[in-house]
Amino acid sequence: MNVILLSHTPEPDALVAAAARICYRDVTAEDLLQSEEKNLSRKLIAELFTSGHMSTFEHVSFTFGIDGLSRVASHQLVRHRVASFSQQSQRYVKMSDDEEAVIIPPSIKNNPDAKALYIEAVRKSQETYRALTEMGIPKEDARFILPHGHSTRLVMTMNARELHHFFSLRLCRRAQWEIHELARRMLELCRGVAPVIFDMAGPSCIFGKCSESRTCGKPYIDMEDLLFA
Ligand SMILES: Cc1cc2nc3c(=O)[nH]c(=O)nc-3n(C[C@H](O)[C@H](O)[C@H](O)COP(=O)(O)OP(=O)(O)OC[C@H]3O[C@@H](n4cnc5c(N)ncnc54)[C@H](O)[C@@H]3O)c2cc1C
Repeated sequence: MNVILLSHTPEPDALVAAAARICYRDVTAEDLLQSEEKNLSRKLIAELFTSGHMSTFEHVSFTFGIDGLSRVASHQLVRHRVASFSQQSQRYVKMSDDEEAVIIPPSIKNNPDAKALYIEAVRKSQETYRALTEMGIPKEDARFILPHGHSTRLVMTMNARELHHFFSLRLCRRAQWEIHELARRMLELCRGVAPVIFDMAGPSCIFGKCSESRTCGKPYIDMEDLLFA
């Protein structure tokens, strides 16, 4: 999987702090970004979290390029309605019959018998797809035979509020491994450009008590544990 931060709102930390400042301080719109003080911003942004003043995080957006994610994971991803997606079309783009075009889950990759069985089935479906398209069957119909694990490409935009929500759900240890890995890489990229906003991002266990009804019993110790586990 390849995940790239294609674009983001300039100075995201400062903009969220400015949005909060216009609520709580007697400061003009023009002066908002000029009166930026780094330490104050950190404290202010932490208070936004604890008080639930989350609309201030909606002013900054992050756009990712995602490549090599399975359609299994992308199906979960697009359930996040407060995000924007553009996904490679299987109606218009001919799917590759390369073996690597299909994601192999680690549990299968690490089991030689399971892997052989899986690859045999993938090859068969790819051969059938190719044969159907060569017979003149439209790509939009031939694709029905492709595996659910076929890789896809997307451009996705989320604002920082939605990202926090996404990270809280998908960085839980109980989340499906592929969307968990996607979320981990996204958080790393977000923290690179907006360290203050994303200082407190992640599942509930990292900041206190697990909010899951069925806990995994292995809470993350800290951000290092989450990002580099
Ligand atoms: C562990 C786990 C297991 C899951 N299992 C299943 C499953 O078995 N089957 C299944 O179908 N899905 C499943 N899902 C998907 C889940 O139900 C959500 O569709 C998905 O996580 C998107 O979350 P969301 O709706 O909170 O977020 P988003 O769509 O990203 O929305 C963000 C927030 O906006 C608000 N919001 C958005 N739309 C509305 C609305 N229409 N009305 C009111 N408030 C709204 C809510 O507060 C919501 O939390 C699972 C998700 C997880 C994390």
